[in-house]
Amino acid sequence: MNPISPLEQALHAARALVLADLVAGEVAQADVVSLVEDSVTQRRWWVKQWPDGASFVAGLIAQDVQDALLERYGRWPLCPVCGQGDPHALDVEPELGPDPHWVCSKAGVKVAAVGSLADAMGGKPSS
Ligand SMILES: [Zn+2]
Repeated sequence: MNPISPLEQALHAARALVLADLVAGEVAQADVVSLVEDSVTQRRWWVKQWPDGASFVAGLIAQDVQDALLERYGRWPLCPVCGQGDPHALDVEPELGPDPHWVCSKAGVKVAAVGSLADAMGGKPSS
């Protein structure tokens, strides 16, 4: 028996990346963490049906959590790039692909890799 399968490694890594971004956005309360766990459970099933999608799970889990948060709390993560105008959430690109990033569709810029949102938040220009 393998101690940890590549699929479990991918899921574990994806979970860690999304949790890091939740911490960066200061929304990592217990009930939010459980949203991540729910998504990981669903994506575990999904990736077992389609093992080639293992590198896609980080982006998918990020989007699952984003959707779940929108229903319960509102937009996440808020764009740290645009200083003015209506607050808006970042999008995950690619929606279904490896190496997912948070992008601002208004400014058309890549903000940070999924898992590295803390860097973008910290880099926000202070006024
Ligand atoms: Zn923006």
